Amino acid sequence: PKNDNIQVYIKDRLYPRNEAKISVFDSAVQGGDAVWEGLRVYPEGIVCLDKHLTRLHESAKTLAFSDIPSKEEIKKAIKQTLDANAMNDDTHIRLTLTRGEKITSGMDPRLNQSGSCLIVLAEWKPLVYDNNSGIKVISTSQRRNGPQFLDSKIHHNNLLNNIIAKIQANVAGKDAGLMLDERGFVAELNGSNVFMVKHGKILTPFAHACLPGITRNTVMEMCEKEGIEIKEEDISLSQFINAEGVFATGTMGELTPIVEIDGRSIPKDDLFMKRVMDLFKKNVKSYCEPL
Ligand code: PMP
Repeated sequence: PKNDNIQVYIKDRLYPRNEAKISVFDSAVQGGDAVWEGLRVYPEGIVCLDKHLTRLHESAKTLAFSDIPSKEEIKKAIKQTLDANAMNDDTHIRLTLTRGEKITSGMDPRLNQSGSCLIVLAEWKPLVYDNNSGIKVISTSQRRNGPQFLDSKIHHNNLLNNIIAKIQANVAGKDAGLMLDERGFVAELNGSNVFMVKHGKILTPFAHACLPGITRNTVMEMCEKEGIEIKEEDISLSQFINAEGVFATGTMGELTPIVEIDGRSIPKDDLFMKRVMDLFKKNVKSYCEPL
């Protein structure tokens, strides 16, 4: 009910929730042709805002969008949306930039002649996972695409790869789907990055076939500063299953222990993992950027 009366920003102004609509001619409808970011709002500001806006810009440039709003314009739209909804905490923003409205149906970007369309959808939302109980995952048959198919560095709205993995997890009654890359090494969960602990070292897959997550990057930075050894590696499913601790990272859930993979339980009280989780909790506010 809290989100029933929210105002949503589309293109250049705010609309009440029940009028917040985009055209059926929009590229997002016609071809999943859009890029997005998920942002977390605290009273201190938005976590890693500039990095999110940079990733949005880079994704849009890679896809040759035209008329991409500047970081300042996007920040203004976000501020306007948060102010209109009196939101300054416990808020998740779904920022979307579509290629815009087409003059006729079809996928050809030349049909887009009215510039891109920015959507700022801010909702009251707690972090998605309960960090105390952790999450259970299954390995899915859906491979995470690497750069030879659709570069995972582009944060696009063509999410079917991940949605199929999530459906498999749903059918199995688990929380998330673990995706392997095309070589069979662990890539990421359907909506977050993964880390494991072994012999007091933290390991995470290379960012070849996963989103280069901003939370992933923050965790790596924090560990390096603390002198905790952290390495990117090709990691197999067996290594993950036999880890001393495994956790997922993402803006929507921050750090969450993974307590089960394919029915095998993973310890959830590893001291090293706890140390990294505490480190993140303690320092996340210092990554907040005011608008
Ligand atoms: N992987 C995927 C597939 C995602 O969609 C997300 C969330 N956008 C992440 C990882 C986590 O990325 P971040 O830490 O930048 O939120």
